[in-house]
Amino acid sequence: MASSKIQSVAVYCGSSSGTKPEFELAARELGKRFADNNIQLIYGGAKVGLMGHIANEVLIHNGKAIGVLPTFLAAKEVAHDALTEMHMVDNMHERKAMMHELSDAFVALPGGYGTFEELFEMITWGQLGLHKKPIAILNVLGYYDALAAQMKNMVEYGFLKQDAHDMVLVATSVTDLMRQISGYHAMQGHKWISDLEQT
Ligand code: AMP
Repeated sequence: MASSKIQSVAVYCGSSSGTKPEFELAARELGKRFADNNIQLIYGGAKVGLMGHIANEVLIHNGKAIGVLPTFLAAKEVAHDALTEMHMVDNMHERKAMMHELSDAFVALPGGYGTFEELFEMITWGQLGLHKKPIAILNVLGYYDALAAQMKNMVEYGFLKQDAHDMVLVATSVTDLMRQISGYHAMQGHKWISDLEQT
């Protein structure tokens, strides 16, 4: 997908800020980059943790931040009250589906179970050929080194095709991340699907 087509990016990240200041700094740097490049932020709609930091930075720089928050989480995750748009949905499934629909690419910053769940759903949808949008991990402070190693294990032990492995972009800086997303070409002919079709 050419960079000119990327107008909205979903960011999955912690509802906590983590223990190192670099996590917040990375979230804020990405938020500013989005605002400077007229890229809309699509995210979970909270004002806590890295979620809040990236949204605030987008808004401070006159960018657009769009939240998608299930009603039952509004109190627990503390709904952001100053977003460009807030979509209240009924459940987690609707949240993920809407974030997917609204976005041209998906990015994971450091986070916990929720971040991983959302990231992996988009990865598996990509593997199944349900979308061809870029998916990138911002590996701040090596936070995702262990996951990258696990993904290599999956290939080595025959549970993951190399092209599905390579579909997930791993970046070490915001500039690297934006460059990789912009230059992304979806894998051709989803082998995983072809294998299924042959059985
Ligand atoms: P965490 O990384 O655990 O701090 O969570 C980050 C975000 O992921 C929060 O907004 C969570 O509500 C969200 N989340 C957790 N589980 C799910 C799920 N199953 N589907 C969609 N979002 C989720």
